Amino acid sequence: MKTIDDINFSGKKALVRVDFNVPLDKNNKITDDNRMQAAVPTLKKILNDGGSAILMSHLGRPKDGPEEKYSLKHLVSHLSEIMGGVKVHFANDCVGSEAEEKASQLKAGEILLLENTRFYPEESKGDEKLAKQMSKLGDVYVNDAFGSAHRAHSSTTTVAQFFDEKAAGYLLKAEIDNADKVMESGDKPFTAIMGGAKISDKIEIIERLLDKVDNLIIGGAMSYTFFKAMGGEVGKSLVEADKMDLANELIRKAKAKGVHLHLPIDSVVTQKIEEGAETRVANNHAIQGDWMGVDIGPEARQVFADTIAKSKIVLWNGPMGIFEIPDFAEGTRTVAEAVVKATEKGAFSLIGGGDSAAAVISMGYGDKVSYVSTGGGALLEYMEGKELPGVKALG
Ligand code: AMP
Repeated sequence: MKTIDDINFSGKKALVRVDFNVPLDKNNKITDDNRMQAAVPTLKKILNDGGSAILMSHLGRPKDGPEEKYSLKHLVSHLSEIMGGVKVHFANDCVGSEAEEKASQLKAGEILLLENTRFYPEESKGDEKLAKQMSKLGDVYVNDAFGSAHRAHSSTTTVAQFFDEKAAGYLLKAEIDNADKVMESGDKPFTAIMGGAKISDKIEIIERLLDKVDNLIIGGAMSYTFFKAMGGEVGKSLVEADKMDLANELIRKAKAKGVHLHLPIDSVVTQKIEEGAETRVANNHAIQGDWMGVDIGPEARQVFADTIAKSKIVLWNGPMGIFEIPDFAEGTRTVAEAVVKATEKGAFSLIGGGDSAAAVISMGYGDKVSYVSTGGGALLEYMEGKELPGVKALG
């Protein structure tokens, strides 16, 4: 894969797909700028070479056309700030005459941020006409939007065909390299920790991991489907009733492949999902009545932490409980601490996007693990062995 290190951007206008899909509060203030920070090295390289950068991104999920709250104009001043005061222009549309004019007038060392690509419904369909219009804005195409690389959209994929010169940005390259390192290093023990709400979202990655890992730790809501499938009583805990056969099949496959499947022995249970609600600890085979599991229990934490601390490769995707509520975040915190400990002892640890990445960063462990991925869905698809359209288009 060609990267931006293979290109001298001097005098060139780079059309760069970034992933600036950051959360904004009611006052349009950025509440977490990790995704913007992650693009800085790529943008600096382009500008330092003597080039200029025209940025495309989506933000949120606008339904039909422009919506004020999803406008990328809210990001302009922060982008300038994190780029060390670089001049950032803004175009009110990602294609068309205003964008073309501003792109043509852009000077070396400057940035032009375009309006949300998803204000065009065609974007998500990978529309070629829209992509062709986008392509008029730059001389070189750079994709640094790992979080969107699994989508064959106009700005992530289709647009690439209109460029002779195209390359991966540093973030995209780093994400792929780190994912490869986890899957291919061969270091042992390899421990994967899967959590979150649903097995159904993670079946393919779990199946792939069963061929690679020594330990598979399962926490979060998805564990209750396993206990129910084994004949346990799980009270009101979240269960995917149509996935119980699959859970039994995964248990059988893990055994056949010699993978240690660690399900949580116990849970913190409650009757109300709210801070301050009464909680108990229950064995996961016997959660009674209207009690429901909302976090892994103390025994499970101990077993999980011991297993993680002894590992050489750690992959973590998905929280161990409803970690958004501090009372139910202890299991997720214990796992984060164990991953940090393993990393300190020399393990390579990758935190896969979404909620587990947010948890690790908010607990202050972002720089104490080997790599925090910016891509949830994209990372899982890549690790499942699928070719990402955004990466393929650069080939
Ligand atoms: P996912 O997007 O599949 O990684 O799921 C993340 C979500 O799962 C988070 O919002 C958690 O609050 C939720 N979650 C984790 N454990 C539980 C649980 N025991 N019961 C209900 N929701 C949970």
